[in-house]
This record gives sequence, structure tokens and C-alpha cells, in this order.
Amino acid sequence: MTNEKCPLCGGRASKKMMNDENVKYVGMFFNCDVCGRYGLTADELEARTIDWDKLRIFLYYNGFRATEKNWPEYRYYSSLPKEKCDAYNLEFKKGINEHGCPVHMDKDTVDAWYPRSLSEKTDMILLKLDKIAEYIGQEVVFSRLELYGLMFVKRYKTEKDEFSEEEMDSQANFFIEYLKEAGYIKGGKISLDNTETYISITPKGYKQIDYLNRNSGDGRNVLVAMKFDAETVVLREAVKKGIIEAGYNPVLIDEVEHNNLITPELLSQIRNSRFVVVDLSHRNNGAYFEEGYAMGLGKPVIQLCKKGVNLHFDIAQINTIIWDKESDIPSRLKNRIMATID
Ligand SMILES: [Zn+2]
Repeated sequence: MTNEKCPLCGGRASKKMMNDENVKYVGMFFNCDVCGRYGLTADELEARTIDWDKLRIFLYYNGFRATEKNWPEYRYYSSLPKEKCDAYNLEFKKGINEHGCPVHMDKDTVDAWYPRSLSEKTDMILLKLDKIAEYIGQEVVFSRLELYGLMFVKRYKTEKDEFSEEEMDSQANFFIEYLKEAGYIKGGKISLDNTETYISITPKGYKQIDYLNRNSGDGRNVLVAMKFDAETVVLREAVKKGIIEAGYNPVLIDEVEHNNLITPELLSQIRNSRFVVVDLSHRNNGAYFEEGYAMGLGKPVIQLCKKGVNLHFDIAQINTIIWDKESDIPSRLKNRIMATID
């Protein structure tokens, strides 16, 4: 590992080559304080397919950082193909951690996550602030680069040309000003005279966060509950595709976690979902549980099941997409989402 510049945020990062099992160079792995652990393929480094501004902000919000609390951390985002990431994860489960636990990301993943409106962005900033603060009312310190991630600051004018620090500061300050005027935060703006800034959430801000948490089903996240393993790879991709095509953001918990437990993280993902898509073809206990939990919260549920599988009685009452071939799923699921979720 060497000390270098993070290609995304410009901060300091350690870097090492990623090689495949034939020791052939396939890309670069970075560990950045701001963006966390991530790997980019040689192709992505050469010619971008992902919007790097969105990618940097995606990683700031979702990245895997090896902190004291999160140690050891084997997970990292990777633009390697999905199949490659799955294969490395399988190796990891067998105890070979040469390649760690890559979580696949690509243009679709980043675009689907990225907020589209100003109000979506300000909601996400507030929720992230709440997540970062260790106690209520804490004044959290942000370095300039962290602030650029938090405040959705664009760094690239074009692939080669970057905005000046002054221009990026004023982008960040727009959101600080906006949230201050709304009465949600207290804190200083960033300027060329300082390298960091302090932000804290006001009581009014906490009230808004409570409101957002209760109503976060208004967002675009959709939890997918199903059996995840090598045998369901085609199915999961089909389900993902249908959800993305309907304009929503699929959340597949195995891409975030690497154990099979029902965790607080999973429950909060269900609470934060607009609706839940469940495939019951493998009569997977976890999927039944997650469906029940979502229903208890009053979330809409869309069920899928492979033709010929007998469903549990209670569940069988619900309108279900019975599929024969995985290739039929994306368009049928998309249509069902458009027809039933407003
Ligand atoms: Zn970085």
C-alpha cells in the first residue's frame, strides 16, 4: 500500500493493484478516509462509465470505512463484474480472503441511488447528519472533503476540468444556508479561511428527522427479500432490473451484509423502504419473516413465485406474480409496480 491521492475526492488514500486469480492486473483498490474502501477496474479508470461525482457522493453516503467500530472490515465497493464479486464472496465464506468481500456497483447502482430533487437531497443530508452524530445535539466536525460528499458538491465540470475550491465551497454553502434557513441545523459555512466546519442538528431538525423516519416510505428504496445464493443469481438480477426500470432503487441486503441473520440493519432497511418485493420460490424462512414484518408496518408487498411451488396458506391469498422463466420477470414486475404503487 502506498500513500496516494484518491482519484474521486482528491484526498489522501492508500492504493494497491487488484489482480485476478491469474495474477493479471484488473484495476486499483483504494482506501480513502472520505470514500472508504473501493476498487475500480482498469477500464473504469481509463474511460468512465459511472459519473464520478455521483460515485464519490454515493461512496461518502454508503462506503465501507475501516473504523474502530467496524474492524476488521473486509467489504468494499467494486466495479468488477457481478459474477466476479459473487465468486470472491463465495471464496471468502470458505475462509479464503485474498479478495475480501466486494460489493458490486456499476452505473445503474449509483444512478438508482442518486437523489433527483433538491428536497430529496436535503432530506438525505439531514438523515446522514443524524446517523453520523454520536449523541443528540453533537457538533460534528467535517473536513472540507467530507462536506463536499455530504452536501452533494460537484467536482467535475468535464472529465478533465474541475471546479475551483471556491466554487465547490459555494455549492456546499448553498445547502448549509438552506438547512439553516429552514431551522434544521446550526453551524458554520466553509470558506477559504478554514479547513473544516462544525454542524449540529437543532430541535426542529430532529423533529423533521423523526418525521422523515416515520414517512421514509415516500422514498425510492425497495427491499428485496428472497433466497440469495449462487443458484438465484439470475433471479436476483431479473428482480433488480424490474425495480430499476420502474424508477426505484432495489436494496439487496446480502450486498450490504455478509451473514444470514435478521439484523437491526435489515429491519431498518424494511422500515425505510417504499415497498417490499418478495420472491417465495425457495420457501425461504427469512423472506417470509421479512414479508410479515413489512406487512405489519403497512408497507405494500409485491410477491413473486415460481410456477409450481406451493405457497403457505396465509400468503397464498395475496396477489402474486407467478413466473415461469426469469426473463419474464423484469417487464411483469415493472408493470405491477407501476400499477400498484403510486
Ligand atoms: Zn476519496
